[in-house]
Amino acid sequence: MSLSKETITRALRGVPAVGAGGDLVGAGVLKWVAVCETYVSVKLLMPAGATPGDLAQVTSMTRAAIESAARDEGSRLDSIIIEFVNDAGDVIRTARFGAPVNEARAQGPAGAMGGSGGSGGSGASDMGHRPIGGLADTRPVGHASGQTRAPTPQGAAPAMPSIRNIIAVGAGKGGVGKSTIALNLAVGLARRGAAVGLMDGDIYGPSLPTLLGLGAMEPIVVDGKLQPFLVHGVKSMTIGKLVDPDKPLIWRGPMAHGAFKQLAEQTNWGELDYLIIDLPPGTGDVALTMAQMLKLSGAVVVCTPQKVAQDDAVRAAKMFQQLGIEVLGVVENMSYFIGDDGKEYDIFGKGGAEFMAQRLNVPFLGAVPLTMGLRKNSDDGNPTANFAGGAITRAFEELISRVEGQLNLTAMKKGQRPTLTIS
Ligand code: ADP
Repeated sequence: MSLSKETITRALRGVPAVGAGGDLVGAGVLKWVAVCETYVSVKLLMPAGATPGDLAQVTSMTRAAIESAARDEGSRLDSIIIEFVNDAGDVIRTARFGAPVNEARAQGPAGAMGGSGGSGGSGASDMGHRPIGGLADTRPVGHASGQTRAPTPQGAAPAMPSIRNIIAVGAGKGGVGKSTIALNLAVGLARRGAAVGLMDGDIYGPSLPTLLGLGAMEPIVVDGKLQPFLVHGVKSMTIGKLVDPDKPLIWRGPMAHGAFKQLAEQTNWGELDYLIIDLPPGTGDVALTMAQMLKLSGAVVVCTPQKVAQDDAVRAAKMFQQLGIEVLGVVENMSYFIGDDGKEYDIFGKGGAEFMAQRLNVPFLGAVPLTMGLRKNSDDGNPTANFAGGAITRAFEELISRVEGQLNLTAMKKGQRPTLTIS
């Protein structure tokens, strides 16, 4: 039997909320619980004025309560992540116990994690637990300990001096809303005053002609270069406008390479702050071509909450890392449904992608709900309408801010000056 959210929540009713009075659940300190098979993750509100000792105490009691619940149920438990968040939901400290995803899982019965704790994590500080064997390696996937990193295709890619940031948007599978996220990221950045290009690198199934509402517009060539379409404040180019729209797009490897290269190099992008690239779904040739020919600032992985989507998204994230591309984070699209009545319906199991991001130790960039309005604006080719206010606008604005934040962090890590963002 596997653990459930309910079991974990019940167990945490027995943990006193240090500094807040009462228990973690009753005092509203428990903000989030996610369980995925044998992995458990909780978020706790950071108590005001908590000392490191208080946090260590809450952490160890929370861990003990979860382990004891697993033992009582006879459920296997491989990993616990305990995060302390502030009122805005930003993670302040993280403690991890057990093996991260894709590590060899601990063998043995429930509670096998006992005595093999560790801590650390994204921007987190050690909370004083013993680092013993079985400690989670909390570094990003693909950066295993002691490995000398092989040269990646990205390592030799030339920078494009006229384009400050190139961001790829990928997904493990089709239909999860990758193009929708790429498009709204582009439009939202442009609305903040940036010069933005959007390249439809999904050469097998280009959807930007519809999503951007390009209609009957025809591509124009000037001095041997394609002039990008300028709509919704964004310069865009798509293979969908260069081929017969009703013909199947069957590309052999070298042709796919050539098609992508042409779109990137033979479009007159001019000076850009951002070039957003909508990649084909999966882990194929085009991503490799891109990594070899363009120096990327990073990649965004789009995923829906379901377990099957997460498995594919893990592969996509690992592909970027193997290519030497920084994963800026994971977005959960179609996270939950907002009906016309304004109510939220958790159809697919909200939080799955956030949990996956935690397990991969990459940032979570936000959740975008499934709404009729977004579907309609996409079909109508009117993304600007997604920024007229409401839940979708908030979701996209938050996503864009987090992407900007991650870009700045990445730039600082590489020793570049961060961009000052005023919004
Ligand atoms: P992908 O690029 O992953 O194949 P698309 O972005 O083309 O997926 O999205 C597939 C369909 O789902 C489109 O019709 C799009 O408008 C719709 N869609 C995507 N995300 C949402 C959402 N959050 N709410 C409503 N419709 C959505």
